[in-house]
Amino acid sequence: MNKTDVLIIGAGPTGLFCAHQLGIIGLSCEIVDNLDKAGGQCIELYPDKPIYDIPAIPECTGEELTSNLLNQIKPFNVKFHFNERVEKLNKIKDRWHVKTSGKKEFDVASIVIAGGVGSFEPRKFPVKECEKFEGKNLFYSIKDKSIFKNKEISIFGGGDSALDWAIELSNISKVNLIHRRDGFSGAESSVQKVKELNDKNKINLYTKYQMKSLSGDNKINAVTIRHEDGETKEIKTDYVLGFFGLIMQLGPILDWGLNINKKTVEVNTENFETNINGIFAIGDICSYPGKLKLILSGFHEGALAARGCFKYAKPDEKLRFEFTTTSKAAQERLGIKK
Ligand SMILES: Cc1cc2nc3c(=O)[nH]c(=O)nc-3n(C[C@H](O)[C@H](O)[C@H](O)COP(=O)(O)OP(=O)(O)OC[C@H]3O[C@@H](n4cnc5c(N)ncnc54)[C@H](O)[C@@H]3O)c2cc1C
Repeated sequence: MNKTDVLIIGAGPTGLFCAHQLGIIGLSCEIVDNLDKAGGQCIELYPDKPIYDIPAIPECTGEELTSNLLNQIKPFNVKFHFNERVEKLNKIKDRWHVKTSGKKEFDVASIVIAGGVGSFEPRKFPVKECEKFEGKNLFYSIKDKSIFKNKEISIFGGGDSALDWAIELSNISKVNLIHRRDGFSGAESSVQKVKELNDKNKINLYTKYQMKSLSGDNKINAVTIRHEDGETKEIKTDYVLGFFGLIMQLGPILDWGLNINKKTVEVNTENFETNINGIFAIGDICSYPGKLKLILSGFHEGALAARGCFKYAKPDEKLRFEFTTTSKAAQERLGIKK
């Protein structure tokens, strides 16, 4: 059981800045995200796109913003739990017990939902029998590439992830790349590289094919693919990987008894608490009159929600407002030596 003052759900820009504001006022927090890295939409949807409306930063990319936010919270040693989706919340006395998809458990005084447009979930194969092999030898993301060494891998998809992993894994394994179209949506340089590797027999490229079925008992041992003209092929395979992009789903958040309005969580604007005491919502996932879905609004909401969390974590103490530059305690927390 992980015990901390606040659990932040979502490591997007809003969740990251809220961790900073919690740290400044002396509260500990941990962050859970369903993705494998921090940054939310900025890193997943537009890492290279310029952002022009962060105060005092005339221009930065999604990736630069994320990296700066991570630098800013370094003094607080925030613990991240990636590839975990928060599933269940239970109130036990005056604490919250939280469970994730990976069976991690948290005991916290309050929760800040910074879940954006919901958790990013991989788009899955439409073939029904895929479910029973998922997590065994069928995956939608790669956590440890060493398991693929000297194996035969069938990768499905035509975007950057499918192309990049096909290129990368062709160095250590036999790779089949299967895509339902002739054209690819990934970077042109990667498409050219895949074609070169196909010419050198380092990648077997199958275009205009889709998965038809899988065979195997406990694990997949072959995949049958079907060409758009109806012809089928059976390929022996040790692993199947699907890279079809991500979809966003509010998922379990809908079942927590929160007031939901058009797929967002209603909050007050004093401290961004929801209809449930001790649960706050900030960033794109929250709604109130006049809400602007901009990163800067999420920063403001995170600062106030952090202060709202204080009374749950330290009910016997009073939080006094101080500027960080004049608060000795805040400076100590930031590791500033004078
Ligand atoms: C193409 C594009 C361009 C944009 N350009 C700008 C711009 O120029 N300026 C600007 O200010 N804004 C811009 N935005 C909007 C901005 O990206 C969002 O306002 C911002 O990302 C919201 O941050 P957030 O932290 O609230 O949520 P997100 O960035 O969406 O992060 C939420 C995180 O929560 C995780 N999560 C959700 N549910 C769960 C769960 N149950 N368990 C675990 N993890 C969960 C998700 O995986 C995700 O990583 C743009 C958006 C898009 C799509």
